[in-house]
Amino acid sequence: MLELTGVSHVYPGGTRALDDVTLSIPRGMYGLLGPNGAGKSTLMRTIATLQAPTEGSIRFGDIDVLAEPEKLCETLGYLPQDFGVYPRVSAYQMLDHMAVLKGISGKADRKAVVETLLEQTNLWGVRGKAIAGFSGGMRQRFGIAQALIGNPELIIVDEPTAGLDPEERNRFLNLLAGIGENVVVILSTHIVDDVADLCPRMAVLAGGRVQLEGAPRELIESTRGRVWQRTIDHDRLDDYKASHEIISHRFFAGRIIVHVLSDERPEGFEAVQGGLEDVYFTTLADARRPAAAAQAA
Ligand code: ADP
Ligand code: MG
Repeated sequence: MLELTGVSHVYPGGTRALDDVTLSIPRGMYGLLGPNGAGKSTLMRTIATLQAPTEGSIRFGDIDVLAEPEKLCETLGYLPQDFGVYPRVSAYQMLDHMAVLKGISGKADRKAVVETLLEQTNLWGVRGKAIAGFSGGMRQRFGIAQALIGNPELIIVDEPTAGLDPEERNRFLNLLAGIGENVVVILSTHIVDDVADLCPRMAVLAGGRVQLEGAPRELIESTRGRVWQRTIDHDRLDDYKASHEIISHRFFAGRIIVHVLSDERPEGFEAVQGGLEDVYFTTLADARRPAAAAQAA
């Protein structure tokens, strides 16, 4: 269990990237969903002990993360948003080197670890190739391989699916799902489906604050009977925005499907089973509201 209590972070210059974040993150896959600028990477780096928060405390099991960062590092696997390590050495050599850094000094031990990871991440066939020549999906799988060295109990992956094509993304998510239920895996993303498909628990982060926390299925259930849909023409979108509480819209076959949140059926709309996307966009709309009200005042 990872416990964050009252974690805030203010960057020099005054940006409050995290604002009183309190979360209990159990074992298994945990989705941290939020738009650009929400504070996801700041939170990931803070948990990974790469930067100290301005306020708050973090515990992982018995470890006081801020007081004993080196203890956490022994059991941490981290894939940053911008991994940026694409050297001209082979995947095998690089993993072997990183295993040395992680303290796996015995040659035979290291061989076993490196070979297992290359197979697990489906990189065995390209183990002799330079990482610099890898595709986006291969790089991300290499990123997971290096994060898994030394059997970490806390694994943090920051926006790993951004920029992957659908097939690579599926392959990558399958790999994450297979890591196991006995470790804490935190997946940050701005893609709702990453969380919906994979995570038994999740939080929505926006404006540095936890806006929502829970099990996706329960959160979806909470919108039952309140989401309505209508297909409209492009030029009507602004009218509808003015007169309805639109939570999302998407293009479909040249027209626009709008979803509206309402306790009663709006004229001309039909009931639709809400999804996690509706939960997410409703939450973001709610999060923006106090800010807008404060601006108007
Ligand atoms: P996300 O990963 O969700 O996109 P970030 O944690 O990267 O969000 O950023 C949160 C906020 O903090 C943004 O407003 C961003 O501009 C700001 N920020 C991030 N890193 C820095 C930094 N090193 N210095 C100053 N501001 C930063
Ligand atoms: Mg980020």
